[in-house]
Amino acid sequence: MGTKQLYIETYGCQMNEYDTDRIKNALDAEPTDDPKNADIIIVNTCAIREKADQKAFSSLGKYKSIKANDPNVIVGISGCVAQLYGDKLLKKIPHLDFVLGPRAIPKLPDIISNIERKKRRTVETSYDIEELFEVEPYHQEGKVTAFVSVQQGCNKRCTYCIVPKVRGDEVNRPLDDILRETTSLVNKGVREITFIGQTVNSWKENGYKFGDLIRAAGEIEDLNRIRFTTSYPRDITKRMIDAMRDVPQVCHHLHLPVQSGSNKVLKGMKRTYTREWYVDTINRLKDAIPDLTVSTDIIIGFPGESDQDFEETMSLMREMEFESSYSFKFSPRPGTVAAEYSEDETVDPDLASARLTELQAYQKEITSTKNKNRVGLIEKVLVEGESRNDPEFLSGRTDHNRILNFKGSKDLLGKTVKVKVTEGLLNSLRGKLVV
Ligand code: SAM
Repeated sequence: MGTKQLYIETYGCQMNEYDTDRIKNALDAEPTDDPKNADIIIVNTCAIREKADQKAFSSLGKYKSIKANDPNVIVGISGCVAQLYGDKLLKKIPHLDFVLGPRAIPKLPDIISNIERKKRRTVETSYDIEELFEVEPYHQEGKVTAFVSVQQGCNKRCTYCIVPKVRGDEVNRPLDDILRETTSLVNKGVREITFIGQTVNSWKENGYKFGDLIRAAGEIEDLNRIRFTTSYPRDITKRMIDAMRDVPQVCHHLHLPVQSGSNKVLKGMKRTYTREWYVDTINRLKDAIPDLTVSTDIIIGFPGESDQDFEETMSLMREMEFESSYSFKFSPRPGTVAAEYSEDETVDPDLASARLTELQAYQKEITSTKNKNRVGLIEKVLVEGESRNDPEFLSGRTDHNRILNFKGSKDLLGKTVKVKVTEGLLNSLRGKLVV
């Protein structure tokens, strides 16, 4: 397989980026940026919202002519859309060779060689894959940040969410396995690890809890930064907060999706906490880590969301002043409880769009004020590479997860440096290296 060229397109969350790197490693193929040069083309998909679904289909359409020109090119779909629609995809897309669910990545090499030998189109969407974590991700030389998966699937049952259906129930990765992968990445030059899982802080194994995982990772030599995402509010425990406070490598930024500020909506979503409980949890975290910054996710237009409910979300936004937020219009997903609500509970799409615009405008104001307030401060930055927009600048992130660009020598890659903030923009900071 060694000389094969792989082109892979990725949609969705960090979990999918991680899976893309696992696919690259599983196939031991050479990644290419041009699908026309590829022997294998894969679209790794996300099913969280309908739009993401559609993107995957239109993306696959692009490869029809490549396959028509060279029938030996193998075209596949992986990820959550693959899991959701299974063999229907083979019927719908005649130039597709395989459909691979997110749990089936370890089976990919066999699938490819079967297709090559027998020219048989394949669907692999089984949940019962042994050695779920067997394939580790491809690591690009020189990269100083990396994800490590600690968990697959999800045991929560948020009524809007398709994840448990497409990624199965929660399976936690053994502690030793996580530490081994982390250490191996650190030995390759990685200095910052982000542990990933759908509800990462519900991780547990053999009596160990998430706080113990953080403490164990804190013992790894040369690992300078530990992040994790996505945390679930109800799984924030004293043990976890204590570990976040005690382990110096833990970054002081937490992504904690709240979804709504209305208790009525939270109940409809089956989020299992109230607004008051969420606020109290953030307060407990900030008591332990006073400079902690928090970002969140919000869903607008969940069925039955009234003007009053939306106002409660806005009042929570004002109360919490989140560092940043990802906000989405509710998208009904097949097979979820929230897709079954009656029509009169559906929020008018124009009204939902107007609410989303209002919320996002408010968030922009807050984020930009917070960034401006950093001017004059000295931040510690892990240098990740050149700035995307200007190769004259280096780019890294602060402890609080803000992007900070500054001029400096490329030798600083992978180092943690001090940078004085000179400008606060909406999506990033600019600064000057402190020598
Ligand atoms: N597992 C994480 C959790 O529950 O917090 C993250 C799941 S998802 C990849 C990221 C975000 O997408 C969620 O926090 C939620 O705000 C949003 N989302 C999930 N399902 C959605 C839906 N049906 N419609 C709109 N947004 C959705």
